[in-house]
Amino acid sequence: MPPRVKAPEVLTAPCAVALHARIAQAGAEVLQWTPVTSPVRMRVEASTCHQCSPITYEFGLIGGRWYIRRTDYRRGKPVVHEAVAQRHRIAEERWRMLLAGVAI
Ligand SMILES: [Zn+2]
Repeated sequence: MPPRVKAPEVLTAPCAVALHARIAQAGAEVLQWTPVTSPVRMRVEASTCHQCSPITYEFGLIGGRWYIRRTDYRRGKPVVHEAVAQRHRIAEERWRMLLAGVAI
């Protein structure tokens, strides 16, 4: 009997302990990202892995409204953008779409 081969998604998954946003698929919905020069404290409910990607995403609350924050560390100084505040149901749907690669 040949050795069992792991499924491709297991082999390509960077690590097993954190969330990762999949690479955006063709036709992915483009979220409206606003540059943020002085990010305020967010109560983070979920975040993506910083070990495997220089771009991280956080999903959480600021002042009672839900945000998705993207932080890009590729140029040394973090560059922060936030998606428009939404009610929880809509923001969570966008967060799941982002993780699934159907939103960017
Ligand atoms: Zn990771």
